[in-house]
Amino acid sequence: MAARMLDGVAAAAAIRAELAPRIAEFASRRGRPPGLGIVLVGENPSSEIYVRGKLKAAAESGLQADLERLPASASLADLLALVDRLNRSERHDGILVQSPVPEAMGRDAERRVFDAIDPAKDVDGFHPINVGKLVQNRAELVAGTPSGVIELLERERIPISGARAVVIGRSEIVGKPMALLLLHRSATVTVCHSRTVDLPAVAREADILVAAIGRPGFVTADFVKPGATVVDVGITSVTDPAIVERMYPEGSRRRDVFAKRGSLVVGDVHPQVADVAGALTPVPGGVGPLTIAMLLKNTLTAASGLMTGRER
Ligand code: NAP
Repeated sequence: MAARMLDGVAAAAAIRAELAPRIAEFASRRGRPPGLGIVLVGENPSSEIYVRGKLKAAAESGLQADLERLPASASLADLLALVDRLNRSERHDGILVQSPVPEAMGRDAERRVFDAIDPAKDVDGFHPINVGKLVQNRAELVAGTPSGVIELLERERIPISGARAVVIGRSEIVGKPMALLLLHRSATVTVCHSRTVDLPAVAREADILVAAIGRPGFVTADFVKPGATVVDVGITSVTDPAIVERMYPEGSRRRDVFAKRGSLVVGDVHPQVADVAGALTPVPGGVGPLTIAMLLKNTLTAASGLMTGRER
């Protein structure tokens, strides 16, 4: 039987509808909408798309989102100075620096920039203070992608407490916070990575399997326990026809899209998993829209001063 599709677009719309009156109430009380400063350095095409999506969603939700651009030639000092200005800004409640920053800024640049953001304005939840609070299960600002996954699971009434959860991927922005959020909801959590031995067998233990790897179609049906919930965080824009042919049968609509555009956005989960899983998030239309909805929610949280307990 085909898996139930978990509709991230609908869940994100519901979250945004719930936020709307709270944003309007903030704006009428404070005489200005919650403000978000988005920093984009250089001209990475994927980053341009992500940032455009965030600006559009913020505007539609009644937030004031400002795009602060720096050229690819900007120095780390330039970027840190911009973050400092946004930290001091009265009208910016949230700050987001779009990843990746140019390699020329140096190996530790991104970490230094995230560390420099005022934790009370850290709407991406990457600052070590916010990550530490997440470890202690008292975070107000948590990375949008993993918290969006939790929102989706809860809204779809997928039981988490007591479930066996397997997270494939241990990145700072997805895998690790995902594992912690599941643990705090009393799942029994295993985190896998590139050195995990017999990954399919470990994954097959999962009632909830989260794939955050960045490898198209990596999770095949043999990774999945029948009836499991599978969350596909992966987003890769594929231009290699061989990958598309491996994932989608001849005559499928997705192949047509690829033929027309020359590229296709795909997840880490092979479409055949739908024959085994009980529930599955699609790509696109699964986790992606939730990430943006949670960014909006975090901006309102930061604006409301919930983190520090003070009115900002
Ligand atoms: P990342 O930093 O590159 O981390 C990838 C993780 O996958 C690493 O922990 C890596 O293990 C693991 N991995 C790689 N190859 C593996 C293999 N063969 N077997 C087992 N594990 C393997 O990526 P990320 O930033 O977490 O992002 C993951 C994916 O999610 C990407 O496709 C990204 O585009 C997508 N993403 C989507 C959203 C959204 O809004 N939906 C948001 C963020 C990211 P090691 O640690 O051992 O190297």
